[in-house]
Amino acid sequence: MGSECRSQSEVRREMTYSAIVLAGGSGRRMGQEVKKQYMQLCDRPVIYYPLAAFEKSGVDEVILVVSPEDEDFVREDILKKYSFSKVSHIVGSGEERYDSVYNGLKAASGKYVLIHDGARAFVTVDIIESAMEAVKTFGACVVGMPAKDTIKISDEEGFVSQTPDRNRLWTIQTPQCFIRDELISAYEKLRQTEDGFLGITDDAMIMERMGHKRIRLIEGSYDNIKLTTPEDISTGMSIIERYQKGE
Ligand code: C5P
Repeated sequence: MGSECRSQSEVRREMTYSAIVLAGGSGRRMGQEVKKQYMQLCDRPVIYYPLAAFEKSGVDEVILVVSPEDEDFVREDILKKYSFSKVSHIVGSGEERYDSVYNGLKAASGKYVLIHDGARAFVTVDIIESAMEAVKTFGACVVGMPAKDTIKISDEEGFVSQTPDRNRLWTIQTPQCFIRDELISAYEKLRQTEDGFLGITDDAMIMERMGHKRIRLIEGSYDNIKLTTPEDISTGMSIIERYQKGE
């Protein structure tokens, strides 16, 4: 059968990498009327920056997860305006981040998924492509950076209980990348457990709880911050200015 005769579902099956970019949060901690993912940062909305990096990378498609009420605005004022051609689906977000991820997973077609917080505006093409390579080699990987600070674990009364060896501590970022079918089945199994998603703060934890063997840690960048509180905006502006100067 000639390639022009292949059905849409056959073409979908050949996709290797799907990125799921999450922009369905309320952004309350930013304390602004406009949700943080749509705030202007150096003349572009925050969500423009990660979408531009995924557009330039080798991923095959991008699933963008947004609040249902924002879908029309995002389609017109972001995707069309900036000609993002890799966004194959806009998907409605869920109550919690992990619900939004699950909605994205159901729409994705790739063998591998790269899950990324849309609020991490400064992910680069290099980070994305290192993650793509690592998930292909190891089956699961998360981007992060070695901890710079000493980290302490407190007891329930607020006193130091332990100081883990800093040489083995990482602060975790996104993208976090998995084999899509494995992550979907981990989600479905975790949902059946007594505690369910209680205490889950990232995607890797879902795999860890379900006994996934090995998740590779790869270096991202100290610039790959999640824009969360107002002071992050000025940090973000200085990162963009630095990038614009080619530093
Ligand atoms: O709230 P937090 O900053 O940890 O969210 C991380 C990312 O997940 C953000 O990009 C946010 O828009 C997204 N999110 C989502 N659906 C939710 C909650 C958060 O897509 N229900």
